[in-house]
Amino acid sequence: MAKNKKTHIMVIPFPQSGHMLPTVDLVHHLLRRHAAVTVVLTPNNLHYLDPLLRIHSPENLRPLSFPFPSHPSIPSGVENMSQLPTHAIGDMIQAFSLLRHPLSSWLESSPDPPAAILSDMFSVPWTNKLAEEFEIKSIAFLPTTAHTLSVIWGQDDRGFFEELMQSTSTSWGLILNTFKELEEKYVEDLKKNFMGHHRVWPVGPILPPAAGSDEDRGGKSSVPVGELTAWLDAFPENSVVYVAFGSQVSMGKAQGEAIAAALEKSGVRFIWAVKKSGGDDTAEIVPRGFEERTAERGRVIRGWAPQKVILEHRAVGSYLTHLGWGSVLEGLIGGTVLLAWPMHADNHFNTKLLADELGAAVKVCDGMDSVPDSDELARVLADSVRVDLPERGKAVELRGMGLAAIDEGGSSYKALDDMVREVGTSAV
Ligand code: UDP
Repeated sequence: MAKNKKTHIMVIPFPQSGHMLPTVDLVHHLLRRHAAVTVVLTPNNLHYLDPLLRIHSPENLRPLSFPFPSHPSIPSGVENMSQLPTHAIGDMIQAFSLLRHPLSSWLESSPDPPAAILSDMFSVPWTNKLAEEFEIKSIAFLPTTAHTLSVIWGQDDRGFFEELMQSTSTSWGLILNTFKELEEKYVEDLKKNFMGHHRVWPVGPILPPAAGSDEDRGGKSSVPVGELTAWLDAFPENSVVYVAFGSQVSMGKAQGEAIAAALEKSGVRFIWAVKKSGGDDTAEIVPRGFEERTAERGRVIRGWAPQKVILEHRAVGSYLTHLGWGSVLEGLIGGTVLLAWPMHADNHFNTKLLADELGAAVKVCDGMDSVPDSDELARVLADSVRVDLPERGKAVELRGMGLAAIDEGGSSYKALDDMVREVGTSAV
């Protein structure tokens, strides 16, 4: 490699916020390691790169856009899982895999081919084949933990995950949005039993560029961010509960009523982000009159919430969450105590790790269809801002460990350095 030539990496994020956001944040950290990065997106997802395009040179950060492939089960104009119900994930994976052919043509004629293709685990079955075709390295990115991967890998029937896991295990390298100190035994387990080599890099918590770039993170906020933070500014530290369940989960009416009743009975200050996936009307989830009755101490956000900004605010002290991994890390880094209501995907594994093993989250409810007892939930919500929960102490400790890991010289910082160096120097 010429002396000053940058290591060129092609990054292929998957169009779902919980995957796309940490992948784009990872791109930022690759660029800070003096890599050049081509990011493959479809037109309606190009906006995810806006915060990076404001701070990185176009010479190094290169968006590469292809039309979203047409698919019989995905309506025209839909390019992101946030516009679809959770069960459409298989269709989205299939539709997105049709990018292989245009990408292959692009690579064929590229004057500056990448040294590696780094792709979300959902795309690895086809991106690994692409990497093989062009004799370049394949790196799988998993926006979750080594614990989750270990558990799924250890199951007799891996169902939906079978092909994804098999392909991932043959990748040249694997990047995880976790940190060694959080779950060293599971990271080691993956090296030994899943990948069979050392190229497993825990590089998290992967954070976005800097405070101030979070307002339009993942989408345009449906409320004025300045007004929301000004409202929060009036409250004491750790006195507000944030209630939100990620980009995919849609609540039913009975669940909405239980949450609303619990928020009313508890008397806590709150922000409640309400959504139905597919963009349906959310009005019936929030009982009539609820907002008027709680206007003094609460805000309901319909649609896209500026979640990172909310969780970073000092007034927000606890977070009723589905425990999607992105939300877990944002909650921990924001200094909140996590109140767990696992719903789907990795949520139950994360609850096991965070609540049962590490004691950093409080379990409050379980499952996509369950309806919490509103008296019990009201008690948990009130306690979460009143008493010094042991879980808060543990969460604060994990926050410190996570920040130390990504600081210069920390384990995640070094892992990312190693990864970029190995991509640039070692053979496929
Ligand atoms: N998110 C957001 N606003 C919303 C909903 C989600 O900013 O209204 C972001 C959230 O901050 C997180 C991501 O979307 O970074 C969701 O990822 P997570 O892994 O928590 O859950 P998923 O949506 O994949 O279930």
